[in-house]
Amino acid sequence: MDALAEYLIKIEDFPKILTTLLKEKIVDKIIGAETRVDKKTQKEDRFTVSPRVYEKPEDITSFPLTNLLAYGYARTDSAAKYLHKSLEGAMKEKVGVIARPCDTRGIVELAKIKQINLDNLFIIAFEDRGMVINASREIKKFKDVDPEKVIKEKIGDKGLILKLSNGRSEEIDLPIAENCSRCTRKIPVIADLGLNDLVIPIDSDEIILKVYTDKGSTVLEKSKIQTKDIPNDIKSALTQKIKEIRENALAKRAKDLEDWDKLSQKEKLERLQQCTSCGICIRGCPVCYCVDCILTKKKKEKAIDNVTYQLTRIAHVADRCVECGNCDNNCPQHLPLSLYFQSLNDAFKEKFKYTAGENVEDIPFRSGKAIKQMELERT
Ligand code: SF4
Ligand code: SF4
Ligand code: SF4
Repeated sequence: MDALAEYLIKIEDFPKILTTLLKEKIVDKIIGAETRVDKKTQKEDRFTVSPRVYEKPEDITSFPLTNLLAYGYARTDSAAKYLHKSLEGAMKEKVGVIARPCDTRGIVELAKIKQINLDNLFIIAFEDRGMVINASREIKKFKDVDPEKVIKEKIGDKGLILKLSNGRSEEIDLPIAENCSRCTRKIPVIADLGLNDLVIPIDSDEIILKVYTDKGSTVLEKSKIQTKDIPNDIKSALTQKIKEIRENALAKRAKDLEDWDKLSQKEKLERLQQCTSCGICIRGCPVCYCVDCILTKKKKEKAIDNVTYQLTRIAHVADRCVECGNCDNNCPQHLPLSLYFQSLNDAFKEKFKYTAGENVEDIPFRSGKAIKQMELERT
């Protein structure tokens, strides 16, 4: 997406954009975020971020922006899934969403099958390098790092960069999710405003804000937050960094898929035998949209084996997968589910010139006729 304008803004000013959305009644609700607070000790776990719906401007006093950028939502939550499942796809009300690029792709796919009303959305999307998953658990493995002393985070070239309360910062070897490391689509496909910290040093209190639409421009103006022009050296560093990140991801993806293709069909099926049909991949998949899931029903009736369960899911989702990685990020059996989908996606691209999650006008080759007959309603 090409931006109409881009600025540096203060991270602490970001909540004012959200309050403006509600005050000006541009949206009725916002899918925001909150960090986990232990009920007994009242201690904050800044590494565990969950969705939180804001309805009133006064609900928004702060926002865990760098936490959400670095860690994403914990467990199976994602903005696209939450929007569809918990806010009825914005069918009846206007909703603000803070999305990752893969959420914007999921939103596009859900809009194609009339599960989300795009007209009712205001999207603020990240440009990101990926996220560190299960950060709350993983950070404990670094004995030199006191999680309570961390005050800010960002994803760096080698892993997670942390800023500590004593003023020091350090980069630790805590990498982004495997799927993120081969994600080549780190830019939103649809958004009103964009945010990124890719070339902003951890010590800075600023972040880059991109304006993609007139609606985004109006909201920024009404929020009255201070904006600064981006110096040319930062602009060119950003272009270079995005190029570098995408080239690395392309190389990683090619290598992983080459290795994957070396496995025989038998070996790939054998791996699926480890599936326990727990359903977590379905819970987390933004494009697994059925309210009444046939697989859940069959599993309850004990009428399906584990391989058929997962093969059926792959067949159902195949041409809609937006490569978010939420399935393998959460699979207790650590099945590399996104590789099954990515190899299929590459084949679809070559054979049908089709890529899911790019443009709402691109009609899936399998279900174009059915989609044309669909009305906006939840299925
Ligand atoms: S899958 Fe891609 S777009 Fe989604 S969080 Fe990872 S890097 Fe970002
Ligand atoms: S693939 Fe993994 S997450 Fe999905 S049902 Fe099987 S065990 Fe559960
Ligand atoms: S199948 Fe997996 S990678 Fe594809 S959209 Fe669903 S959760 Fe994301």
